[in-house]
Amino acid sequence: MSMQLYNYLSRKVEEFKPINSPKVGLYTCGPTVYNFVHIGNWRTFIFEDVLKRALLFDGYKVKHVMNITDIDDKIINKAKEETIPINELTKEYTDAFFADLGRLNILPADEYPQATEHIGQMLKLISSLVDKGLAYVKDGSVYFSITKFKDYGKLSGTNIKGVKAGARVDVDEYDKDNPQDFVLWKASSEDAKVRHEAFDSPWGVGRPGWHIECSAMSKQYLGATFDIHTGGVDLLFPHHENEIAQSEGATGKKFVNVWMEGEHLLINGEKMAKRLGNIFTLADIAKRGFDPLALRYLFLTAHYRSKLNFTWESLEAAQNALLNLKREVSTWDEPKIGCAEFEGKFKDAVADDLDMPKALSIFWEMVKSDYPTSAKRQSALVMDEVFGLGLSLVPKALKINVHENVRVKDLVDANAPMNQTDIVNIAGELAIKRDELRRAGKFGEADKIRQELIGMGAVVKDTGSGTSVEFRSDTDKND
Ligand SMILES: [Zn+2]
Repeated sequence: MSMQLYNYLSRKVEEFKPINSPKVGLYTCGPTVYNFVHIGNWRTFIFEDVLKRALLFDGYKVKHVMNITDIDDKIINKAKEETIPINELTKEYTDAFFADLGRLNILPADEYPQATEHIGQMLKLISSLVDKGLAYVKDGSVYFSITKFKDYGKLSGTNIKGVKAGARVDVDEYDKDNPQDFVLWKASSEDAKVRHEAFDSPWGVGRPGWHIECSAMSKQYLGATFDIHTGGVDLLFPHHENEIAQSEGATGKKFVNVWMEGEHLLINGEKMAKRLGNIFTLADIAKRGFDPLALRYLFLTAHYRSKLNFTWESLEAAQNALLNLKREVSTWDEPKIGCAEFEGKFKDAVADDLDMPKALSIFWEMVKSDYPTSAKRQSALVMDEVFGLGLSLVPKALKINVHENVRVKDLVDANAPMNQTDIVNIAGELAIKRDELRRAGKFGEADKIRQELIGMGAVVKDTGSGTSVEFRSDTDKND
């Protein structure tokens, strides 16, 4: 079966046909780096990673671009609160974002363009919209005139009949029921320019609106028209709608062929909100003793277009399933010829608009089948190219003694949901494996294992007798 993907433009599942097969251009909206990314966003980033892995699995060559929003109101306000320059703030959270990507085993993008590094491209795009009469200047700011773009609303279904001409909005996020002319360039002050929060433009000192960066940077790295654009479903309006208006308005060409949006994550049945205190980060997950990959596993249990309800119990169940799986895999023989029957069914599930719940159930059927363990191990590795659960790192024969360098300090917590013996056993095995790889000069692979250990919440050190692994309580992590 060829790849079938749900396209928000047509609101249908369609056969995926790249513009220039086997090449695929993929743009995924990235983080605004003023805070730690929460698990709702991670659900979107993991859906996008599964999409990319599925395309690679199908033999496509993917060029993946993810923007880093390093200038906007939230960033400027927080930097002001903390009385630090914005680039100091954004660097801290960009670094944290990349570290978390590694912990979740998300494949890196080919490009991570930062907004502040692409002001010139944005100015060019805005100028051409002004020249074409699709944008206008008002008090040093530039606005996109939505009634001048005939296809406005085609992605989100937003109706602009009756929208008052000249009604404008300066904020980047606003309600679907209130479409207005949106800001492309916001007037700012000379003072802000001194603080590197504003830039020169033909319309005076200012800074870009949020939407224009994705239009400018996707064009720069993927061209005027490309294959797939993704984000969270909350970006459908206004962000993605505005990207289409800007890009198609400026180039006169179709912007993107396939729009894919990941559904919301609910927490205990509710939307995430500050006032509910239910916004969790990856660090919050690790603090409670969970492997970040357990979160990845949990996300795989729901289709990306269905809402998923997160509870600590569901995360615990996911962690147990993942540990059981790793324990099982560790007893299997070295990989040989895989189980074609299961691999075929798995491939069909992946191609069916990324049906991960089905793919997982096929995977477990395979695990529990009577095939020789060498075949199962081979097929598990093949399937994990899409799942990304780090199964290739599971060493053989987990029953071996705990590594002498593994110490558990203050891990014992009556509420800890994980089986600590399992974690320690796996960590010990990984430490041994890492030492072997380092002795063999395979430093790249050794480093992957180090990342895996860190992902498990361990503090990893090099000592005279090899890799030392410690699990500590949060309070003494900095000593
Ligand atoms: Zn975007």
